Amino acid sequence: MTADFVPDYLLDLRAAQRPAMPRVSCIVPAYNEADNIALLLTTLNALLAKDGYEHELIVVDDGSRDATVEEVLKLQATLPVTLIQLSRNFGKEIALTAGIDHCDGDVAVLIDGDFQHPPEVIPDFLAHWRRGYDMVYSVRASRDGESLAKRWFTRTFYTLLNLGSALKIPENTQDFRVLDRCIIEALKAMPERNRFMKGLYNWVGFTRLAVTTHTNDRMGGVSSFNLWRLLQLGLTGLTSFSNVPLRVWTFMGSVISLSSICYALHVMISTLLWGTDLKGWPTLIVATSFLGGVQLLSIGVLGEYIGRIFTEVKLRPHYFVSRLHKAGSKEDPVDQ
Ligand code: UDP
Ligand code: MG
Repeated sequence: MTADFVPDYLLDLRAAQRPAMPRVSCIVPAYNEADNIALLLTTLNALLAKDGYEHELIVVDDGSRDATVEEVLKLQATLPVTLIQLSRNFGKEIALTAGIDHCDGDVAVLIDGDFQHPPEVIPDFLAHWRRGYDMVYSVRASRDGESLAKRWFTRTFYTLLNLGSALKIPENTQDFRVLDRCIIEALKAMPERNRFMKGLYNWVGFTRLAVTTHTNDRMGGVSSFNLWRLLQLGLTGLTSFSNVPLRVWTFMGSVISLSSICYALHVMISTLLWGTDLKGWPTLIVATSFLGGVQLLSIGVLGEYIGRIFTEVKLRPHYFVSRLHKAGSKEDPVDQ
């Protein structure tokens, strides 16, 4: 368990502000989780009820193509479940954003819908929140179950992301976390469309505690994050939280220019001293193609940033809700 340094008086102050009977919103992003969602919601409900929390369970259906919606609706008669149906698949980051926008608890719990995050640690997370921490987040104990390629990708990604950045995003953190209302409001105030949630949680600050937890295998269904989607998310994270990919070309440009000045001097001096025998075609080809490659690459990096600026300036809503089935509501679902 590690915490950013938080003075005791500040924790005590925050602890004193916690309501005696807090309302907990449990947010589950779900894409094709029909095999898991019913058991997960029942488990979460039992856990929170046991500790006497007043609670709501929010499932954000991210355009599932299986029976996820049906499974959740069946449970609405017995559990305090709100179902937010997004108009299509927007991806996990946006599904979490929709859940955060709609929750009304004093504190929110974010948890995956596939049992990879162990629900049994939630009471401990909430106890730390009551002690005064505004965010309690899970760090995975190990990445043993993951492929070598995914592990390598993650390691490289975090190294690049944190290169030269003062605000380090810790490696191996997960979306599994407890957020106080102050963090929920801070996240709601962040309007960006390219959302890398782990970066955003980190950016908002407040008092935080990391807790190491184990990660289970996915219970049913399959993971939606293939290498391509991970790469997309990685690029969003990098471009949203780091200028290093832009700056690296200034450095490369300087090194290449300096080397070419040195080479030009060398050619000039040797021609003056020994004349010329017209050698150097291979050098010319190598230099031209190398520079061509470097220029295309740097234009590609610029393009990545410009493409994201383009999505930001359009100011489109983050998502659309097609239907909102509120917990305990006898009325018809609200079409948005
Ligand atoms: N998820 C989502 N939208 C997506 C992909 C995933 O809401 O487009 C949800 C999914 O239902 C699960 C969580 O995000 O609750 C994590 O997804 P997954 O298990 O596929 O990813 P992994 O655990 O392999 O990183
Ligand atoms: Mg998973």
